[in-house]
Amino acid sequence: MQSQVTCPSCRTQFVGDLHQIIDVGQNPELKELLLSGYLNVVQCPNCSSVTQVGTPFLYHDPEHELFMVHMPMEMNLSHDEEQRIIGQLVRSAMDRLSPEERRGYMLQPQTIINLQTLMEKVLETEGVTPEMMAQQRSQAELLEQLISSDKDAALGLIREREDVIDESFFALMRTMMASAEQGGQDQSYLHLINLQALLYRETEYGQQLERQQKAIHLLSSDAKKAGGVSPKLLLQHVLANRGDFTVVDGLVAAARPALNYEFFVMLSEKIEKRQKSGISADELVALREHLLELQQKFEKRSREVVAQAQRTLDKLLQSTHKPAAVRASLNKIDELFMMVLSSNLEQAEKLGDKERIEALQEVQNSIVQEMEDQAPPEFRLVNQLLSSKDEAAMRQLLDENEALLNPSFLELIQAISGQADESNDKEIVQRLTQVESLVVERL
Ligand SMILES: [Zn+2]
Repeated sequence: MQSQVTCPSCRTQFVGDLHQIIDVGQNPELKELLLSGYLNVVQCPNCSSVTQVGTPFLYHDPEHELFMVHMPMEMNLSHDEEQRIIGQLVRSAMDRLSPEERRGYMLQPQTIINLQTLMEKVLETEGVTPEMMAQQRSQAELLEQLISSDKDAALGLIREREDVIDESFFALMRTMMASAEQGGQDQSYLHLINLQALLYRETEYGQQLERQQKAIHLLSSDAKKAGGVSPKLLLQHVLANRGDFTVVDGLVAAARPALNYEFFVMLSEKIEKRQKSGISADELVALREHLLELQQKFEKRSREVVAQAQRTLDKLLQSTHKPAAVRASLNKIDELFMMVLSSNLEQAEKLGDKERIEALQEVQNSIVQEMEDQAPPEFRLVNQLLSSKDEAAMRQLLDENEALLNPSFLELIQAISGQADESNDKEIVQRLTQVESLVVERL
């Protein structure tokens, strides 16, 4: 909806496009927008400052029967005015639905004053509980405190708060380290490295992690010598660490494909051999139980991940504006998602379902477009060069992008060419050779 907005910094009045009905059944991308904090964010045309406009809106999630009206406190409306706005929002939300989509719960919308509370309710539908959010907050707080304390104070804090130092705490720290490294903040990067070392030493979870990483390192260096992790090699390492299931779990997770039928056959043979020679095999039997359970968990997990990707795809297919929906769901689009997408396409082609094929292709094209837009300009140019129809088109592209042509661009082409050569993609190698010589001409 177009609506009059006053810039809080320079008081300029302008017209902003605000969402008043968030129906995530119809526009799933709006959920991401809300959760990322960008819902109803507008930019002032005069001073460019960015504001989130506190405007009432209705949130509807038909899958979870959520029907809530956000009524910002700062609007300071009388009870009657509030009721009038809620009534309007409910009517216009219901007008968008077909009669069979209308439900009883829509007669009693929840009114929510605090945007944070509303977001928490939405997050809950995604399986994120308030406890998880609280845990995350206290981990972030602890990390901040640790960063700003000296070693003795840090040790004290670690003793006191060891209960929140777990896998996700270490993950949070890694994210911070990566961004400090990329941002060239050497000082804070070093500080974080030292802090991590301290945590490895001083916490139980850290010690577990360290043992795990050492064992995985040994496995991977053996695997390098052997040209890969075979079930036999994995079994060797698992057996060597059988006293410590944390380490076993880490090894198996790092080399999942090797935890296969052959692996279990070999393990069972070892158990039988022991039993036949009258040696106790209890320890190995327990290990086998544990690994079988783990394998089942992995399988369940991968089924869930596939189902999740399928749900994401279904939502994208339902959305009325696919490019925007794709952009909002980029964080869910990975290799697995692309696999699910192409198997859906195959299926639709088999059934000759033209409408579905078209919708799937639109999603696919939007993804390709989005990836291209996000790629650094050099990569984009290489892609364009590869898909240009003849040498004249290539020359024209190179003319238009002269600023990008330098020795490192040449290196990029050679690197891509090397990869294509390894995967035996002759056509691409040939094209890249052509591109290379055109670029060399210009340098
Ligand atoms: Zn302004």
